[in-house]
Amino acid sequence: MNNTSHIIHRNLRHQPPTATSASGMLIHDASGNSYLDASGGAAVSSLGHGHPDVLAAMHAQIDRNAYAHTGFFTTDVAEELAARLAADAPGDLDHVYLVSGGSEAIETALKLARQYFVESGQPERTMFIARRQSYHGNTLGALALGGNEWRRQHFAPLLMDVARVSPCYEYRDRAPGQSVDDYTLCLLAELEACIVETGPERVIAFCAEPVVGATGGAVPPTPGYFRGVRALCDKYGILFIADEVMCGMGRTGTLYAIEQEDVVPDLVALGKGLGAGYAPIGAVLARAPIVARLRDGSGVFQHGHTYMGHPVAAAAALAVQQVIRRDDLLAQVAVRGAALRRLLERTFGAHPHVGDIRGRGLFLGLELVRDRDSKEPFAPELKLHAAIKAQAMACGLMVYPMGGTIDGRRGDHVLLAPPFIATEADLVEVVGRLGEALARAL
Ligand code: PLP
Repeated sequence: MNNTSHIIHRNLRHQPPTATSASGMLIHDASGNSYLDASGGAAVSSLGHGHPDVLAAMHAQIDRNAYAHTGFFTTDVAEELAARLAADAPGDLDHVYLVSGGSEAIETALKLARQYFVESGQPERTMFIARRQSYHGNTLGALALGGNEWRRQHFAPLLMDVARVSPCYEYRDRAPGQSVDDYTLCLLAELEACIVETGPERVIAFCAEPVVGATGGAVPPTPGYFRGVRALCDKYGILFIADEVMCGMGRTGTLYAIEQEDVVPDLVALGKGLGAGYAPIGAVLARAPIVARLRDGSGVFQHGHTYMGHPVAAAAALAVQQVIRRDDLLAQVAVRGAALRRLLERTFGAHPHVGDIRGRGLFLGLELVRDRDSKEPFAPELKLHAAIKAQAMACGLMVYPMGGTIDGRRGDHVLLAPPFIATEADLVEVVGRLGEALARAL
């Protein structure tokens, strides 16, 4: 432990290595070690580190205008970013609220949804429904919404009441012999029962990650699940919020992960890959009728943050969008994602402790189990995620391992989210180092 640090680090007993420089897929530390970044931190650095086009756009914006408070001004760069996001979003998700990260985006979505109903003459709507396997951020509203029990435990008395339903977690929850369609219908019946029990007239919105990230290790939905969710939300007049903070912005092979489900949410939260690590930025996309209701009603959204719409962050995010389009990176994600999946299946397909390999695009996860046949998880006392992270770092690799309890059941996962610019040789190296780290940790 280095006692000279004044930073309250995430782990108060551990001083992390000091990152000194980074480029492409590599991060270098002050001790001369290099790490292959195969998780983009936590699915953030989608273009790798030091991308010249993003840096140039940020430098130019700093020279032009580093800050203009949104209570006084808008800027061309923020307008252009919002227009780009809206143009590429599905359906009539035409309006964009720019913030500084994922939790702020979720808080914004919750408040926008609530104000929409207040201005629609339905102030009795106060409840949100979310899934047990979910992480939506660490601020109090977002924390209340998420299902991560460990993160919530100290703060439970401060959190709003949220109704919860089962996740769509086929590997664990589809019964032997149950068809995928049947499993999906059971989940939708549970959601409908939850809406009815809560009182449809009291529900504001259902919120879910299209592909679950931090609490599941890239868990994709079953076919038709989100179409069913959309139909239930429409039936009961409640909003559907898609949390694309981790899975959005190209990570799954389409700009928005929900595009692959063929539904249009009412609100979409973005973060992480939006700024790709170059600037702290998040956003909420809202469908036209939601914004029209506020515009034609009170005329103001009662919300706001000092750094919202920050011009340099907007310049970074706009450059990221331009690079993704110019270099056809969504197609690249599909190709490299398929290659990484093949490599993982070849290397770990018969591994005694790898129960499942899953995900979409360059957003892939391994579920680790003590026993493949019974799917028995490892004991929590082993703190496997910490051991895997430490061993991976020792092998010069950054992956994102997680362990947690959902519905009283334990799970350990490793999430991989390499940059869209990774070559096939990079991915071979990633899987080789991961194999070594797992061999040491398990
Ligand atoms: N939503 C999801 C799905 C996330 O994965 C995260 C962060 O991991 C958040 C929200 C919160 O984002 P941030 O950490 O930028 O506040």
